Amino acid sequence: MKKIVVLTGAGISAESGLKTFRDSDGLWEGFNIEDVATPEAWRRNPELVQNFYNERRKSVLEAQPNAAHIALAKLEEKYEVTVITQNIDDLHERGGSTNVVHLHGIITRSQSSKNPSLTYPIDGWEIKMGEKCELGSQLRAHVVWFGEAVPMIGKAARICTGADIFILVGSSLAVYPAAGLVDYVPRDTPKYIVDPKIPYMNRDSSYIKIEEKASIGVVTLVTRLLNEE
Ligand code: NAD
Repeated sequence: MKKIVVLTGAGISAESGLKTFRDSDGLWEGFNIEDVATPEAWRRNPELVQNFYNERRKSVLEAQPNAAHIALAKLEEKYEVTVITQNIDDLHERGGSTNVVHLHGIITRSQSSKNPSLTYPIDGWEIKMGEKCELGSQLRAHVVWFGEAVPMIGKAARICTGADIFILVGSSLAVYPAAGLVDYVPRDTPKYIVDPKIPYMNRDSSYIKIEEKASIGVVTLVTRLLNEE
């Protein structure tokens, strides 16, 4: 079976009603990134950060996977597929994908604020202040903040080196180290990008560009790949 590696960003979940980062005003749901998505923000005002992610979690739980998430799962009928996502939502899993690597964590789990490898399921949508991990430290969202290590990056890079086909969907490629993953894909691997506003691609003209929203572009591409010999 050929190996397909799909790298997704916030754009794939936009049509499920979850806002991207940079599309509009450089804010995330009205907040500066530095105020809600950094270790400094947590030290300064943990309640604000906790509430911000509780609200994001609520939106994720209310959202449904869209046609693009569902189409990517269908690729598994014919290919060995790994989805590497920068997203913290669980819409790939709920869309049916069985092999998903979350580079930036997943908001439906909590994490120890002392040891990031200690993660737990969350009952409902809210992590409350005062809820503690087994080490006695406050629980926070299981997401990677700016300035924190990205533990899955090595595994993701290795997966990219083995891609027979590579698909990039809905990412501005502005967040590192995730954006650097495209450099691990072998030069002669066919590469596709689906985005209604194709990002600047670091001199790389080898991508087949599908300038469409994910719900249209991914569905078209998946149909094409499923019909290929
Ligand atoms: P980004 O916001 O920087 O870029 C979004 C990209 O998606 C843009 O290139 C835009 O043109 C494209 N896009 C917009 N609508 C689209 C659609 N309907 N179909 C396809 N593409 C569309 O997102 P990023 O590159 O993923 O980086 C932002 C960071 O923010 C990520 O690391 C992620 O962790 C976090 N984030 C996650 C979510 C989520 O989990 N759903 C939402 C917002 C931000």
